Amino acid sequence: MGSPTVPPAPPRSAPPFEHQRRGPEVGRVLVLNATYEPINVCTVRRAIVLLLKDKAEVIEHGEWRLHSATATIARPVVIRLVSYVHIPRDAHRRKITRRAVFARDDWMCQYCGSRSNLTVDHVVPRSKGGASSWENIVASCAPCNRRKGNTLLRQAGMKLIKEPRTPSPHVFIHVASPTIPAAWRSYFAA
Ligand SMILES: [Zn+2]
Repeated sequence: MGSPTVPPAPPRSAPPFEHQRRGPEVGRVLVLNATYEPINVCTVRRAIVLLLKDKAEVIEHGEWRLHSATATIARPVVIRLVSYVHIPRDAHRRKITRRAVFARDDWMCQYCGSRSNLTVDHVVPRSKGGASSWENIVASCAPCNRRKGNTLLRQAGMKLIKEPRTPSPHVFIHVASPTIPAAWRSYFAA
């Protein structure tokens, strides 16, 4: 387990690939669709499997290398899938988490713009038949959540800053990797 006394050269017998610890982004690889659109984050191990099966190509690699008994491979940082993968808009519906809702809403209450005391709120309350869907869940500060209570927006005299929608894959990449490594940044459109 990552002891500092381990010598820098990995033992020849160590299977399959040793990799050194290099900061919090270690082990994460940005996956681009065939169109270069970022779609996912995966582990180095998973990336290597995709590369060895020719399902992906390396777009950016790290300065250090991964060693096995028989091969040396540059540590992948960004890979691109060889075949286009269709991402259905509702592929992410199952992954409604607080973090993902906050990330989509830019960590901002969708009623007043506050960035503190964030909670999640059902726009149409569940008690009034509101669904637990991306279109009906927003980030809300605790005071707005209390003020709105179990009423509809109209009744509470409140408005949404923007219409809630299913987020793009970028949101999930940010959730999986809160700090985006510098080598990934050029793949995200501003
Ligand atoms: Zn608020």
